[in-house]
Amino acid sequence: MTITFADLTTMRIGGPVGQLHVATSTPHAIELLKSADAAEDPLLVMGGGSNLVVGDVGWHGTVVKMESAEFEIDGDRLTAAAGIEWDQVVRAAVAEGLAGIEALSGIPGSVGGTPVQNVGAYGTLTSDVLESLSVYDRQTGLVERWLPEQCGFGSHRQSVFKHSDRWVVLDVTLRLRRSTQSNPITFPAITDRLGISVGGTAPLAEVREAIIAQRREKRMVLDPDDHDTWSVGSFFINPVLAEVPKRASECPSQPDIKGTKLHAAWLIRHSGFQPGYGVDWGNGTVALSSRHPLAVTNRGGATTADVMKFAAHIRDGVAARFDIRLNPECDLIHCSY
Ligand SMILES: Cc1cc2nc3c(=O)[nH]c(=O)nc-3n(C[C@H](O)[C@H](O)[C@H](O)COP(=O)(O)OP(=O)(O)OC[C@H]3O[C@@H](n4cnc5c(N)ncnc54)[C@H](O)[C@@H]3O)c2cc1C
Repeated sequence: MTITFADLTTMRIGGPVGQLHVATSTPHAIELLKSADAAEDPLLVMGGGSNLVVGDVGWHGTVVKMESAEFEIDGDRLTAAAGIEWDQVVRAAVAEGLAGIEALSGIPGSVGGTPVQNVGAYGTLTSDVLESLSVYDRQTGLVERWLPEQCGFGSHRQSVFKHSDRWVVLDVTLRLRRSTQSNPITFPAITDRLGISVGGTAPLAEVREAIIAQRREKRMVLDPDDHDTWSVGSFFINPVLAEVPKRASECPSQPDIKGTKLHAAWLIRHSGFQPGYGVDWGNGTVALSSRHPLAVTNRGGATTADVMKFAAHIRDGVAARFDIRLNPECDLIHCSY
């Protein structure tokens, strides 16, 4: 049976996979990467497929899916192999009384995927807790241990891994804090659920539960029966602009090291695209999530071409209204945008 990216990704779209290899340990991953490169076979590395959109033509070379599973807790340090599901790591940290990543509960994908776009939610970024990570350098064939400064974090959702296939993340070491109490929480949606004031803390397990409940409400927790979750999370990235056009002066914003970060969700809504938009558009197989305006969702039977056409339609609507180009947050392979 032919395996397709529709089988391997959370948006459930994309064409056939050439050769699929599952890396079950870190040494196995290195062996697979080395042999694909030695054979000069085009190589795509993936984890949980939760931030990946591959064209309907698929990928004709080798795909290495990271499922390595080495895991260790040593004092307040947690080291996890790239192939472990990220949320398993959060669950383990919470159960161990290690604070620092409870706000990142419920995010799909693998450990190795988190530094790629410096995954973040509810005030916590991967880079806040990352002590080091190990990478396999496909150019030199060497394994190196890197500090966060080498990862190119900085501007919103960026890293050196994002637009380069040179380095493969093998494992990450997080420096957490021994405590059963969470970090301070500044999001009213979460503090209200916990019945605490903004800036307060709560037991780790309760915070994890509140975050997951909030994410569920926004359809940001995977559910195979709910098309609102057949997505890559936010399809569009919050734009960072050196200068904000006058027309967008009312858009909520935050400072970023590269300028001003605008809320893409606000821009989309104010361009006339409300949550759920799309069911009456085109062939109705793609729509914005009914609960999250940044999530482009597969309503069942969508192709990558359908998704890309819909995303371009939203992009063009926002550009016409605000003179701002929305770019994708997810990785697009063999897709035109
Ligand atoms: C419902 C939903 C909710 C989400 N919520 C959030 C959120 O709150 N915050 C957030 O930041 N993101 C969110 N995301 C996006 C996604 O979960 C993250 O980006 C996740 O870290 C991707 O990991 P992955 O293993 O699935 O990566 P994949 O989708 O498999 O790959 C994504 C990219 O990373 C590369 N990659 C994967 N593994 C490695 C590796 N080991 N070494 C080098 N490169 C690698 C791939 O080549 C590809 O370019 C959400 C997605 C979904 C579907």
